[in-house]
Amino acid sequence: MSKQKTGIVSERLRREATTRQLFEQAKDYAVEYMQNVSTQLVFPEEAVVDGLEIFREPLPLEAADSYQIIEQLHHYGSSATVAQTGGRYFGFVNGGIIPASLAVKWLVDTWDQNAALYVMSPISSVLEEVCEGWLRELFGFPTGTAVGFVGGSSAATLCGLTAGRNRLLEQSGYDVNKQGLFGAPEIKIILGEGAHSSVYKALSILGLGSERVIRVPMDDQGRIITAQVPELDDKTLLILQAGNVNTGSFDDFQNLCERASRAGSWVHVDGAFGLWAAASDEFRHLTQGIEQADSWSLDAHKTLNAPYDNGIIICADREALTKALHMTGSYIVYSDNRDGMLYTPDMSRRARAVELWAALKSLGRRGVAELVEDLHEKAAYFAAKLEQNNFLIHNQVVFNQIITSDPNPEMTRKILNGIQASGECWCGGALWNNTPVIRVSVCSYRTTYQDIDLSVNTFIRAREEALKADRN
Ligand SMILES: *Cc1c(COP(=O)(O)O)cnc(C)c1O
Repeated sequence: MSKQKTGIVSERLRREATTRQLFEQAKDYAVEYMQNVSTQLVFPEEAVVDGLEIFREPLPLEAADSYQIIEQLHHYGSSATVAQTGGRYFGFVNGGIIPASLAVKWLVDTWDQNAALYVMSPISSVLEEVCEGWLRELFGFPTGTAVGFVGGSSAATLCGLTAGRNRLLEQSGYDVNKQGLFGAPEIKIILGEGAHSSVYKALSILGLGSERVIRVPMDDQGRIITAQVPELDDKTLLILQAGNVNTGSFDDFQNLCERASRAGSWVHVDGAFGLWAAASDEFRHLTQGIEQADSWSLDAHKTLNAPYDNGIIICADREALTKALHMTGSYIVYSDNRDGMLYTPDMSRRARAVELWAALKSLGRRGVAELVEDLHEKAAYFAAKLEQNNFLIHNQVVFNQIITSDPNPEMTRKILNGIQASGECWCGGALWNNTPVIRVSVCSYRTTYQDIDLSVNTFIRAREEALKADRN
């Protein structure tokens, strides 16, 4: 009796798994969303967010109808999203979504591959290998350089710093994999004051301490001041940056990587969105010398406009990376082919490299370069328009990032609130030299010059409204 009862759920799921209708419905909703995303509010209205309360129900005892599930999600969820795949989202550094990459993702989701091992998914293994080669070529990195596919730059940085830490300690005759950090020789960690918070997070997870570091002052663009980088040696982990999260600036790789290479230090580059500059003839000068580093972390979900979550760890020292992330078990069968889990902290993992492959194939070498150049051109246009309208521009717009403000800091805060409440565009805020600024990241191919004109008008209107409120 009880056996029969438990089979009912599986039977229903089996039926649903082979009927078109549910998936057609999801597809229709998705297409409808895509078609409306550039006219929907960039940030949802309060009433719509309040509508999400409907989801806060007790765990249901009984099964819900699958059509109702997707219907409920679309009805209450789609309008409560942040429209970052439209053209007027400039918050953080988020990027849009390349159509071929998204379409491929739908198909890959249906495959539900586990990218851990070749035997679990030959297709994933092969496309990871293809992407590894393509990225090496795109960035001009040494042959043999290894690439792993993780959730984001934070995870990628963790992998790069682990490989570096382990390699440096190994050179001192110490096996940190086996012995842990107890009694390990000290290593020196050097980074710029403008380092991203994910670097500190990785250092603290790795037992290297987020405070026990040498913080080199940055210049007015957020670049590490090269002349103030202390002596490097073969127990030094030097962390550099391609693309400061506020200004988009790049460190002096040529000089610092050469020094590090002579000294036997390990250089990790956080290139989350900026490393893509290396793919353009016009912008490659920003990353000059970067190929001499040891490891690089970046995202395909930012500048490249691949879907989330697409982080990439690149490491010139394949052995250091795989040794750092290695695991064994009697049931784990490594093959002569590429086994993706050798390059990542996780074992089970979705086949995200397929989306990266589609993005790169959809653009081609030329298209990646053009995308980078286009984002820059639009950022420069945006900054020029803001400046014409009496907003201060605090950075040289070398890439896709702008930091701007009103001359009056209190006014800047009010303007930012006004922009965020407008639903017309969305920008984030930050402190730059202890002054509130508005951060603008142009990082989606969806953004048009018209979107920028509209957004500049939103800035101007937010300022007028703040001034009016002040007078009253
Ligand atoms: C976004 C970003 C990160 C973190 O990347 P995630 O993909 O969000 O983990 C790290 N560094 C820089 C410079 C970034 O812009």
